[in-house]
Amino acid sequence: MKHNTSLAIHGGAGTLVRGMMTPTLEKAYKKSLEHALNLAYDVLEKGGTAIDAVVKATTLLEDSPLFNAGKGSVFTAEGTHEMDASIMEGEQLRAGAVSLLKGIRNPILVAKEVMENSEYVLLAGDGALKFAEKFGFIHEGDDYFYDKLRFEQWQEIKDTEKFQLDHSPKKDSKFGTVGAVACDRIGNLAAATSTGGMTNKRFGRIGDSPIIGAGTYANNNTCAVSCTGNGEYFMRNVTAYEVSALMEFKGLSLKDAGDEVIYNRLPKLKGEGGLIAVDRSGRVTMPFNSEGMYRGFKNSVGESSISIYKD
Ligand code: ASP
Repeated sequence: MKHNTSLAIHGGAGTLVRGMMTPTLEKAYKKSLEHALNLAYDVLEKGGTAIDAVVKATTLLEDSPLFNAGKGSVFTAEGTHEMDASIMEGEQLRAGAVSLLKGIRNPILVAKEVMENSEYVLLAGDGALKFAEKFGFIHEGDDYFYDKLRFEQWQEIKDTEKFQLDHSPKKDSKFGTVGAVACDRIGNLAAATSTGGMTNKRFGRIGDSPIIGAGTYANNNTCAVSCTGNGEYFMRNVTAYEVSALMEFKGLSLKDAGDEVIYNRLPKLKGEGGLIAVDRSGRVTMPFNSEGMYRGFKNSVGESSISIYKD
């Protein structure tokens, strides 16, 4: 049976507040999202797998300095960049993830390698780096990851105990994690998420993005999900899996399950953010409870959109 192909992407739920967004910046964000969406959707259209499509979208967003993942990752308290990423496919529930990874251009590609070529699911820190080197990933110098805006963000709070969530209401703190979900021609689902985490994070802090079930989840019986928001709340809610569980055990539709988690369960813990999700019929939902979420979707029925705010 041929399925409707569908792809959704996000560039983080912590957008600039409307007043701070200039037309030029808005154009740049939308262009970057559109570029990733179109190239990754081409993969599906040419018969590629859901995994290939989410990897394509995520690497392109990692390569854009506009988003907090790969190039453009935020600074830690030590002035370094520690990146997290994860990927999962819904047919056999295989998954791979890396955390606290330094110096690698595309952490999502290492996560994919973990999924496909190791007996592990999650590798962290120096071990993850050694694994990446074993698979031929090149170590980038600090200058590749340096971004003026990110550096200034960090300078502002570096000597304080504060760590800045992408989603705090501060005017200049709105830079997001990236992610993608897809349904391919044969109805396989996949999800991917990648992030630099939070500005000034310390003590080896890890958020939801590399945690399967919290920031990323895929299951052909239900849906594929990629989350963005303050990770601690998403971990406590097991958010990505919760969407799937509400569909599987309560019979909720994709949209109702996503809405329940983002507009009801997450706010009860004061969690802020959003998610993108797709089911096997190619339906997409993209709920968020923050002011905006960089997002886009495209499907084989000819629908597509790129948005930032709740238009
Ligand atoms: N969820 C990410 C984290 O907590 C941040 C984000 O989505 O922007 O590390």
